[in-house]
Amino acid sequence: MREAQTEIVRGEDEAGIRRAGQILRDGGLVVFPTETVYGLGADALKDSAVRGIYAAKGRPSDNPLIVHIAGMEELPKLWQEVPSKLEELARRFWPGPMTVIGKKSRLVGDVVSGGLDTVAVRMPSHPVAKALIQAAGTPIAAPSANRSGFPSPTCFAHALADMEGRVEMIIDGGDCAYGVESTVLTLAQSPPRLLRPGAVTPEQLREVLTDLVIDPAVLEQLEEGQQAASPGMKYRHYAPKAHVVLVEGTPEQYQAFLEGRRGEAKAFALCFAEEAAALPLPNVSYGGREDGLGQARELFACLRRLDELGAGTVYAHCPDRAGVGLAVYNRLIRAAGFEVIRL
Ligand code: AMP
Ligand code: MG
Repeated sequence: MREAQTEIVRGEDEAGIRRAGQILRDGGLVVFPTETVYGLGADALKDSAVRGIYAAKGRPSDNPLIVHIAGMEELPKLWQEVPSKLEELARRFWPGPMTVIGKKSRLVGDVVSGGLDTVAVRMPSHPVAKALIQAAGTPIAAPSANRSGFPSPTCFAHALADMEGRVEMIIDGGDCAYGVESTVLTLAQSPPRLLRPGAVTPEQLREVLTDLVIDPAVLEQLEEGQQAASPGMKYRHYAPKAHVVLVEGTPEQYQAFLEGRRGEAKAFALCFAEEAAALPLPNVSYGGREDGLGQARELFACLRRLDELGAGTVYAHCPDRAGVGLAVYNRLIRAAGFEVIRL
């Protein structure tokens, strides 16, 4: 892995954004804020630049990247054809936290697509992300800016902690509005399939895609040897250093379960705001019980915070799976390596 001198600029710094665009055109790496999480960007159409992303993250080369665009005119360059359903989806959810997979064009190399014949595309709404893509004058490939396997960075400090010295520039755009990665769906097969839940919910998508199916890997662990529709779903993911266990039950059951763990060394609770004060273990709360959006925004920062506190085991209270909660559940169950205690 190469070492880089990392320049830090603020999102409002227009000259800084122009320099960032130049770094990307020259094949370098720039970390930038989006409305979901911080991204680690490179020129999507340059294989050598995109290889740098995999190296900086330590990401397996068969896990494809999302290509970020600033306008609809970029799509026909990236895809062989633009499916008819895309127009309505884009009208509702772009720019925003939705990624769509289509059959890739010949312009898109094998490095960015992880060797697949499809490519994932998103149009972010964050003004800095948009300005950066325009300054670069090319679509930007960008996964989350964390070291592979760890929680995604949702604020500047976390992006800096993971990527300083590995990239040419980091742009400080403050905190991310959603805090979980984009919703990923594919239109490259019929019926359309949800591969990763995010802030755009299945309920919302079904208003456009009535036949949308949810890939089983969203909720369950793939069996040994089973092929992943989304290669990212087969890897350990979003996990802090602490051992996370997901605990499913009512507030009363959760409280009683933790009573039994009272005094356990380095045991922490990851709980809802309403129950924090009464729990018998040291704890971090990740939002209100009914507040899926709030939980999504806080989750990754809480997982990092638990590591800072020296947590050995984390008993995480399972969120509701409706709406954005499905995304929160999907990330937490992976952070827990699918270890669930049902009370
Ligand atoms: P990240 O950019 O780190 O948030 O991860 C992007 C996610 O989208 C990963 O889970 C990838 O496996 C998935 N993905 C990206 N491109 C494709 C594709 N062409 N087909 C299936 N899944 C994809
Ligand atoms: Mg990621």
